[in-house]
Formats: sequence, structure tokens, C-alpha cells
Amino acid sequence: MSTQQTEQSDRKKYEFRRLIEDLKEYEGSGTQLVSLYITPDEKISDNVAHVNEEYSEASNIKSKQTRTNVQDALKSIRDRLRYYDTFPPENGMVLFSGAIDTGGGRTEMVTRVLENPPQPIQSSLYRCSSEFVTEPLEAMLADQGLFGLVVLDRREANVGWLRGKRIEPVSSASSLVPGKQRKGGQSAQRFARLRLEAIDNFYQKVAGMANDLMVPERHDIDGILVGGPSPTKDEFLDGDYLHHELQDKVLGKYDVSYTDESGLSDLVDAASETLAGQEVIEDKNQMEEFFGELHGGNLATYGFGATRENLILGSVDRLLISEDLRQDVVAYECPNGHEEFELVAPRAETPTHTCEECGTEIEEGKREDAIDHLIDIADKRGTETKFISSDFEKGEQLLDAFGGIAGILRYSTGV
Ligand SMILES: [Zn+2]
Repeated sequence: MSTQQTEQSDRKKYEFRRLIEDLKEYEGSGTQLVSLYITPDEKISDNVAHVNEEYSEASNIKSKQTRTNVQDALKSIRDRLRYYDTFPPENGMVLFSGAIDTGGGRTEMVTRVLENPPQPIQSSLYRCSSEFVTEPLEAMLADQGLFGLVVLDRREANVGWLRGKRIEPVSSASSLVPGKQRKGGQSAQRFARLRLEAIDNFYQKVAGMANDLMVPERHDIDGILVGGPSPTKDEFLDGDYLHHELQDKVLGKYDVSYTDESGLSDLVDAASETLAGQEVIEDKNQMEEFFGELHGGNLATYGFGATRENLILGSVDRLLISEDLRQDVVAYECPNGHEEFELVAPRAETPTHTCEECGTEIEEGKREDAIDHLIDIADKRGTETKFISSDFEKGEQLLDAFGGIAGILRYSTGV
């Protein structure tokens, strides 16, 4: 995967997480929050028709306020659907709209559109409730990582995917490899040669199946697992039957007794430790490098202020942000020309700021998500952004000890 793609998908993943968090926060005082899930093969026009139907049915809602709110939400969804042609984007789309409670009896209309979630929408859904429906999206969030699976013995083979936690069998093959017992009248030598040839042919067939499936996806594959009894899986791997780019992605070989479809899940079980480590391996490497610079070099920066300054100088090679960081930043413009920043919790009120330079009290500031603020600068300076999981020790330290923000520098700036 190229740097550009990694960066894009890292940011997309972050935005996807944030969307789910926001949606879960929202509540409606009545059953007035509308969620609409559209699968990739559904026609937009069918959905517009459905929304229109729901709109006229909503006229039967007794509470005037709920009725108005539901109809407003449906109107807003219908307006958004107008932007699309016959079908939704590749992976389908989800629309959310409704009047959410903002406290003190006040409401605010919110409409969010999610195009192309990380995985295709599996089933269509329409719901009007006091909450938005987020479960299918949450399942996708837990469902990350793509691994190729191959199980084989000399009789049969199965090839498939592990997507997040879901196993997808894709293709299978069985062999014509004769058993070890030769028939009468056949010379032992000839029999052995034919048998080896048949085995070789079968391995080629299995590799062909794996190549057809996985080569097109090789840039998105996190690794390949191979399972089977010995010595089959060893012969298969040692013989370099797989396409060389796939061969490079093999994470390990595992003893698996079954080679039918159930063998694929045996393989995933057998590889559980490898898989657990794989998830954060890239993040671990980033943090190792950061700590290496922190203790023995001069290319580490951390905390909002210093990292931001380095970003502006263009000296940051990689911006490291904790996946679990949730913070807003307020930029205050002091009338005496000083610009200062204060970090605040996402739903806290904007505090009054006292300028550290001159002591002026400043009430208003420009507030935004701290991560968006930093990434915008990073993008302009050609700095790569990496989101770091806090599911391992050094990742947790990034969040707790360094405010969730750090960077590895191209050159030392002394900031
Ligand atoms: Zn000032």
C-alpha cells in the first residue's frame, strides 16, 4: 500500500469512528430519529418512494411535535437522495436525520450521510426511533483487517478470506493424486513418478486459485495464512507455488487437520496469536521509533503545542495521533496580536482564556476538533499522519503521557 493510500484510509477510519461516536451520542425526545441503510444493489428511486410512503404515514402520528420532526427528517433524507443517480456508491450508503435533544427542551436538526462505508451494507433497513441505528456500522469497525487463507492436503484445498472476524470461503479444489497403494502390474518407480507429478499439479492448481483471488487484492492484504498437515503445507510453501508478492505476505504455516471449509476456521484459530500481534504491529514499530528518538536521539516531538509548531515549520516526517484522543482546540486571537490555543473536552463549554503574554481576557475563540486541526496542517506540509492504537503499552503511553499527540521529525528544530 502506498503512503498516500495508507494515509487516506487512516483518516477515513478515524472519520468513520468519529461519525459512529457522534451518532451514538444523539437522542430524540420522541421516536423521531430516522436511519436509512441502502445496500449497493438497491435503486435510489425505490428508496425515494419508500421515504415518500413513510412521509404520508407519519401524518398519523398523534404528537404534533413528533409528527413535524419525523416529516422534517424524511424531507431532509429525500433531499439528500436527489444527489445520487440510479444506484448508491459502491459499498452502499446510510442516511441519518432527525431533531436531536440539545438540553433544556431545545432540539436541533441533524442530517449525516455516510457514503461507502468500509464494507458493503449487507441488508437494507429503515427505522424511526429515539436513537440512530449504528450497530451494523459498529460491527464493521470491529471488522478490520484482511487476511488470505489457504488450507490444503494432498486430497483437497480451500481458499478464502478472513475479513475482520468473518471467514469467507471462496473456492475449493480436490485432487486426483492417487493414494500410496499402487495397483498390481504398475512399476514402483513409475507409480512414484506419476504420484509426484499429480501432487505438483495439484499444488499448482491450489496456487492458481489463491493467486486468482488474492493477487488483485494484494495491496490491501494484511497477511496470508497457510494451514494443513505436514508435509503438505511445507512442500507447498517451500516450492514457491504462490505468486511471489503473495509468498512475501505469508505470516506463517499452521497445523490444521481438516482441509474442507471448516479447516479455514481451524486455521484462523491456530493463527490467533499471530493475528493478535499483527493488528498493532505497524503501530508498535512507529512507537518504538518515537521512543528511540525520545531517549537516544533528537527527532521526537510531542504534545499539542510543540507538535503543532513543528508541523508548521514543515519539520515533521510523521504525525502520530492516538486513536482514542478526543479533544477540541480553541484558537484565541488576543487584541494585542498574540495567538494562543487551549485544549478542551469535546462537549465542555468554551472557557474564557487569559492571554499568557499580556493577561488580556478573551471570551471568544475559534473551536474545532484538535485532530482535524493538526491533520489539516500536516496535509499542507506533506506530513504523513498515523493513528496509533492504545491496545498496547506504548500506544497507551502516547495517550496518557504525551496527550495523544507526537511526531517523528525530519530534522531537529529545537522546538
Ligand atoms: Zn495577549
